[in-house]
Amino acid sequence: MKKTVLITGSSRGIGSSIAETFAQNNYNVIINYFKSEKKALDLESNLLKAGYSVMVYKADIRKRKEVEAMVNDSIQKFGSIDVLVNNAGISQQKLFTDITEDEWDNMMNIHIKGMFNCSQCVAPHMISNKKGKIINISSIWGMVGASCEVHYSTAKAGIIGFTKALAKELGPSNIQVNCIAPGIIETDMNSFLNEEEKSWLVEDTPLMRFGKPEEVAENVLYIASEKADFITGQVISVNGGFVI
Ligand code: NAP
Repeated sequence: MKKTVLITGSSRGIGSSIAETFAQNNYNVIINYFKSEKKALDLESNLLKAGYSVMVYKADIRKRKEVEAMVNDSIQKFGSIDVLVNNAGISQQKLFTDITEDEWDNMMNIHIKGMFNCSQCVAPHMISNKKGKIINISSIWGMVGASCEVHYSTAKAGIIGFTKALAKELGPSNIQVNCIAPGIIETDMNSFLNEEEKSWLVEDTPLMRFGKPEEVAENVLYIASEKADFITGQVISVNGGFVI
């Protein structure tokens, strides 16, 4: 039977590439967006034109009620959610001493509360199905920390802790919970970098380049597949050797 994936924040960047990759690999795909409506609708229409099975859904993952509605409507449309990819995120570069309380809360709300909301709404359904995959997008900065991104690094490290704990709890229900921790990937999120900063980062990457969203997406596809059924609680870092 055809499987269904829900990808948070799939209007742009890595999430959009994950949506495309799963659609091309015979999944029903729920494209979630918050602000980028045109991009989400364009992605949906391109995938529908190519004959794939997709649906677009606006929900702010920080809001429990919106997430509940998205999960319930998705299950109603496709009959199941087999894979949840907690991908939505924001970044911000600021000195630690300048981060406001609101900025701190927003960073945690999008990455941690959003992941909590989506995972908790989908988990009962996966538990009763006795199978499922939850894949959380962390970052190398959650593994090693980034200067001037203390709130982002904290949130991304929290995603790793959440993944490991939930993997232990849901393992007996045959639900695998893993993390993909990308290195520097070419998306809007890195558009703040100037040419000099980009070349420093490339020099620090043994493979001497940034990653592409598709390279993250292919690893998410693998970890969602039956080939990866014995992998849980792991952090798979797609980073060109930036962190070894
Ligand atoms: P991006 O291009 O900036 O896209 C971010 C996505 O998150 C957008 O689709 C955005 O949707 C969505 N989003 C933000 N707030 C949301 C909310 N409240 N509710 C629902 N969706 C929301 O970023 P990206 O580079 O693809 O990053 C994707 C993930 O990978 C993030 O978790 C990021 O931290 C992680 N990551 C990225 C890199 C990198 O180098 N790019 C490296 C490591 C990890 P709208 O535009 O529709 O609001």
